[in-house]
Amino acid sequence: MRRTTECTGCGLVLPVEAGAPAIPMNASPECAAVYAEVSGFEFQHPVMLRYHQLSVDAYGAQHAGRPTTPIRLGYALAGLWLALEHGFSGDEVRVIHHSMGHAEAWWPDFEPPAGRARITVHDVAEQGVRIGSSTGHATATRAWAADVWGVWTAERPQVGVEVEALLRRIFVCDGRQPLRGTVGPAGAVYRLVGLLD
Ligand SMILES: [Zn+2]
Repeated sequence: MRRTTECTGCGLVLPVEAGAPAIPMNASPECAAVYAEVSGFEFQHPVMLRYHQLSVDAYGAQHAGRPTTPIRLGYALAGLWLALEHGFSGDEVRVIHHSMGHAEAWWPDFEPPAGRARITVHDVAEQGVRIGSSTGHATATRAWAADVWGVWTAERPQVGVEVEALLRRIFVCDGRQPLRGTVGPAGAVYRLVGLLD
């Protein structure tokens, strides 16, 4: 019988793969390898690339805890909040991330939930890249992100408020206004500030 590993972040149990490289996140190398497979599929198809940001953030939020960094987790939770609660596109979320800057001492310490989402990156792989289905990938990614965010909000009902406060302090209170205008990248920040005002 092949030996298996259990991912400390998402709980995914997979056969040990000698060649799977470790990543600086709370994830098993085998889980990270599946995530790399899913990401590779997204980069093959321009249409699916719009789901890449959502999968980056779902994976980040599902693998909270050391060595996943606070900035990675802050970005992931902000991304899920913007996409799932406020309908921001992947491109818009990416712009917001770039404008958030580096984590500072006052950023909240988001304590990971004890519970686990039912859906993992393995489900996304099985329904997308492994059967060559872009629609399956899209549907599974949305369900995955919603499942991960649902676990956070069920156990940490204040997480949305904390994310909002983080973004408010960065984009409104500190007066950071690197971008002006209402179209393109600036439009995403403009829309966010409107949401927070
Ligand atoms: Zn995992």
